[in-house]
Amino acid sequence: QVNRSDTVQESRMKLPIVAEEQKIMEAIHNNSVVIVCGATGSGKTTQVPQFLYEAGYGDSKGPTPGLIGVTQPRRVAAVTMAKRVGEELESRSKSAYQIRFDSNVEPQTAIKFMTDGILIREISQDFALSKYSAIVIDEAHERSVNTDILIGMISRIVDLRDKLSQTNPDVKSLKMIIMSATLMTGSFLDNPKLFPQGTPPLVQSEGRQYPVTMHFSRRTRQDYVQEAFQKIVKGHRKLPPGGMLVFLTGQNEINDLAKKLRGALAQVSAFGTGARVRINAREAPLESDDLDLVETLAQGQDVSDESSGDEDEDKEFDVNEESVPSLKALILPLYSQLPTKEQLRVFETVPENTRLIVLATNVAETSITIPGIRYVFDSGRSKERKYNNVTGIQTFEIGWISKASAIQRAGRAGRTEPGHCYRLYSSAMYERDFAEHTEPEILHTPIESVVLQLKSMDLHNTINFPFPTAPERDNLERAEKLLSYLGALDRNGSVTALGRDLSMYPVSPRFAKILAIGHQHDSIYHVTAMVAALAVPELFIPQARLNQIGQEESLQEEDLAGETQTKAYNKAQGILSAHDSTSDGLKLVTALCAYMWAKDHDVFCAQMFLYSKAMKEAQRLYTQLLNIISLNLPGSVDPHKIKLQPPTKLQIATLKQTLAAGFLDQVAIRSDLAPTPPSMPRKPSRPTDVPYLTLFPTHAGRVEDVLEQVVFIHPSSILAHTKSAKTMPQYLIYSHIQRGTTATIAGSKLPKIW
Ligand code: ADP
Ligand code: MG
Repeated sequence: QVNRSDTVQESRMKLPIVAEEQKIMEAIHNNSVVIVCGATGSGKTTQVPQFLYEAGYGDSKGPTPGLIGVTQPRRVAAVTMAKRVGEELESRSKSAYQIRFDSNVEPQTAIKFMTDGILIREISQDFALSKYSAIVIDEAHERSVNTDILIGMISRIVDLRDKLSQTNPDVKSLKMIIMSATLMTGSFLDNPKLFPQGTPPLVQSEGRQYPVTMHFSRRTRQDYVQEAFQKIVKGHRKLPPGGMLVFLTGQNEINDLAKKLRGALAQVSAFGTGARVRINAREAPLESDDLDLVETLAQGQDVSDESSGDEDEDKEFDVNEESVPSLKALILPLYSQLPTKEQLRVFETVPENTRLIVLATNVAETSITIPGIRYVFDSGRSKERKYNNVTGIQTFEIGWISKASAIQRAGRAGRTEPGHCYRLYSSAMYERDFAEHTEPEILHTPIESVVLQLKSMDLHNTINFPFPTAPERDNLERAEKLLSYLGALDRNGSVTALGRDLSMYPVSPRFAKILAIGHQHDSIYHVTAMVAALAVPELFIPQARLNQIGQEESLQEEDLAGETQTKAYNKAQGILSAHDSTSDGLKLVTALCAYMWAKDHDVFCAQMFLYSKAMKEAQRLYTQLLNIISLNLPGSVDPHKIKLQPPTKLQIATLKQTLAAGFLDQVAIRSDLAPTPPSMPRKPSRPTDVPYLTLFPTHAGRVEDVLEQVVFIHPSSILAHTKSAKTMPQYLIYSHIQRGTTATIAGSKLPKIW
């Protein structure tokens, strides 16, 4: 029995989801899995856990005694929703949260909000989730890897609990409720592996939304932060009272814009920035909020793409004839790295005659509702996690959001009364460049990392894992093989202690291994620099590109200029190869170490024929990786160390060995040393003609055809400059194989593989 205050009762009755309470609870009583879809703000997160609670879930003396668990992708949502539900229930202690390092769960807690990382960790400790009677997976539309894995795992646990309850009356069944702000699509629902009992019932609530007027920009400007600034300042002067919510991509942008706005607008009170929370990965799993470390700025040009129907810049704020009182501004940032206390300020009451201006990342897109927002400014961009295919290292790149996200963002303006959404991009851009939906993250995550994560949860059969969207079977098999080569899995396919260590690094297991064993002989900083440099696609300007530059720049004295440039180029290569003449990996380390000492980075890059932007990126990754290492093994490294001494002989040997340990499945043997060397028409004279055989089948070729396994040194490799073909090394470790243009090999025309 719950006694809610009249005001709470009144505001609950307005929520569309409340009208569906009976339907939802009936579906839950009759099914193990239920899907609830409803627009953002319809009341899913705050109400569904209360429906369960009122039906007796979480009541230690009732027939369904276990906790009601609710997962959230973001910490701020877990904390605020727990608080809000506690208030609505008029019983703070009934609703609690648990995030990494912080929890207010008590013995009398009935509803527990937590990040998805926390629940994944709990599953690996108690596979039956015996503490719980129901699990609510919220924000399923985001399709994060964690959410997808949880849905797959829990569908199995639900079956397990059903079976156990048939023989043991002490075990109760478990319910799973999947909640989404957008309608889940057919392929998600029609998945017999995931839902063996058939497609679960789907309860959809009516959206209750006031109209939102869209205003597109005439032009898509590259500098959207500046554009946001101008529009907010103008809008603040011209628009009637109502909160503003501005969607940007990250912390730096938000703080920059906040500073500018504070300078331009009369403000109520300044805000503190607060210190960042320190996180230790050993004590809790990674939460997606923690990965918000590196920002890569998009480069490009403004796009003049005037399209009809877009706003005339002068008229866009002429909303109505209403005279606008002069208001002060309260500018608040909102992003996941902000301390929770600071994040909560957006929910506080706004002083009189003041306009709230919230500068947010997509935290505010669906997970939380900020009261009083009437105007949304949407940059149309977000920071997306991108993976380097070879290294699996994550970076964040700014890209266009999907149309579905843009619609969610706009919807935030119509919660309490009609609103306006100012899109800082043209309608032409929206139609042409925005995808319909956000792709499931699992499809662009390195598969070895996903497999390792499943194995770390003691899940053996990854091939049969009920993924909501399954990666390809071949890739799963290949990933398992690689993980056992690396020593992350034992002979039975179970995760090893090393494997658990590797799963702590947000880089592909190959590189995690290099970092994990890189502490020997004081080499960790150099090893980290090597991994960072390897992660960036191209650091060295290739000689072929150089000739083009030379020709463009010296039209008259073409030959002479070309010659001096070639000399300078060779000199630079000589300096970069000074530590070792056979390892491209070491050349990368040398380049990055020297770069970190350089007084003027651009001059240094020009002199050494390095791509300036790529070098900058490599240095940033180096710092990010050091940060991660120091989180995993506190005290093991100084995360601020950027100036490294040249590697010693011992360190050079360590670097080569660690690299080999990470790529031990990518070894090639000089073909004349093979048991059955392929017949070659004549002795190779140049280093790039010396054939090698890969010891394992390559991704590029099939095993059946021995010629498919013949590979050559790429002309850009340091080994292409080996003095004589006769002194080429007997074995090679390679980072990747690339299929080139056709060459004549053993008398037949075949694509040359490097
Ligand atoms: P959904 O999960 O469907 O997006 P919620 O349950 O989060 O919806 O929110 C429903 C409504 O509850 C919101 O529209 C808002 O009016 C109100 N609400 C939610 N959280 C808070 C809060 N912390 N403070 C004030 N009102 C809130
Ligand atoms: Mg919600």
